[in-house]
Amino acid sequence: RQESPEAAGEEGRRRRVAIVGAGLVGSLAAINFARMGNLVDLYEYREDIRQAVVVQGRSINLALSQRGRKALAAVGLEEKVLATAIPMRGRMLHDIRGNTSVVLYDPCTKQCLYSVGRRQLNEVLLDACDKLPNVRCHFEHKLTSANLREGSMEFRNVSKEVVAASADLIVGCDGAFSSVRQQLVRLPGFNYSQEYIETGYLELCIPSKSGDFQMPANYLHIWPRNSFMMIALPNQDKSFTVTLSMPFEVFAKIRTQNDLLDFFKLNFRDALPLIGEQQLLKDFFKTRPQHLVSIKCRPYHYADKALILGDAAHAMVPYYGQGMNAGMEDVTLLTGILGKQLPLDEALAQFTESRWQDAFAICDLAMYNYVEMRDLTKRWSFRIRKWLDTL
Ligand code: FAD
Repeated sequence: RQESPEAAGEEGRRRRVAIVGAGLVGSLAAINFARMGNLVDLYEYREDIRQAVVVQGRSINLALSQRGRKALAAVGLEEKVLATAIPMRGRMLHDIRGNTSVVLYDPCTKQCLYSVGRRQLNEVLLDACDKLPNVRCHFEHKLTSANLREGSMEFRNVSKEVVAASADLIVGCDGAFSSVRQQLVRLPGFNYSQEYIETGYLELCIPSKSGDFQMPANYLHIWPRNSFMMIALPNQDKSFTVTLSMPFEVFAKIRTQNDLLDFFKLNFRDALPLIGEQQLLKDFFKTRPQHLVSIKCRPYHYADKALILGDAAHAMVPYYGQGMNAGMEDVTLLTGILGKQLPLDEALAQFTESRWQDAFAICDLAMYNYVEMRDLTKRWSFRIRKWLDTL
């Protein structure tokens, strides 16, 4: 899109902000920077998700909680997002025999989580970007290099051409494997650590049946099985996206169709007929389990030149359902600090200082939940070990 004449005329006085990554955090950040009067260029590696036939990538749906809702409300989008979200009032636990029990999140005030489609949410945010005359979206632009001191960047576009660009402030919202963070890592004083866990995940589906959900819709369904587990979140089309998380060594042991069906009959006997044997075999063997990484780093900024937000700053394992929510909360916090009209380097330093301990804590909580699920409930481990030994 062309920049509006009004925005172009004021360019001399307005800060040029380049946001790298138009995922959930980047598109929300673009809205906020634009509402503060900056000239925003939003660069995204993938095609425009609104035009994509198939969207590649992580989890199809996510649990939206208070942190994310607050950030959406601040830009007037909460109602729009909740209109198509599905409330999840508690956990529905599925035991090994297929019996279920419910644990409500909040029996008193009835607060709940919402299952939102990643794509729908991203589309709402991008549509809101489109409505702002001072946001320009550049899809199919992959950041390939950046000089943070000079504010210069190079992107490769869909025709494999190199596109040079510059900005006063570069904001990396480019996810766990952030290219912007790679530049920060080179700078003195930047601390960085990452940890892969030995658990991977893959996504399966419980389709709708006769136009309806096959399980009660308003719950986050969990099949806890000690060293591994399965969860399912409801989708708008009345299907459930099912995420199977387990150690790579267990994935590796499941080699044949019979291995898989036996494994499900033993561990997820109520889910198997809902997924359907043929669908399970197709979905399980078509993809490889994905890795999960936890990343801590700081500072999140470099002078008044660069900043990282969301997974680029604090990727976490998904067992606390807070990665996106925390990334959105970054934007809320940052917007509040920028509103104080401090010099930009001071504002960004204040952001790092007020954010890093909370971000580290939520990464730790997510990891703790993972370890707890893996190690602290030993009930099923003996059974699984026995099963593994038979393979
Ligand atoms: P991303 O979503 O990774 O977006 C980064 C964007 O940057 C992408 O669009 C990418 O294409 C683009 N990009 C990358 N590199 C470049 C480049 N070089 N140039 C240009 N663009 C680039 N969180 C929750 O809050 N609730 C949940 O229930 C939940 N469930 C999850 C389940 C699973 C299985 C997983 C893996 C994660 C889950 N999360 C959840 C975490 C959540 O997915 C992330 O925290 C969230 O997506 C982070 O958003 P982001 O915008 O920072 O990064």
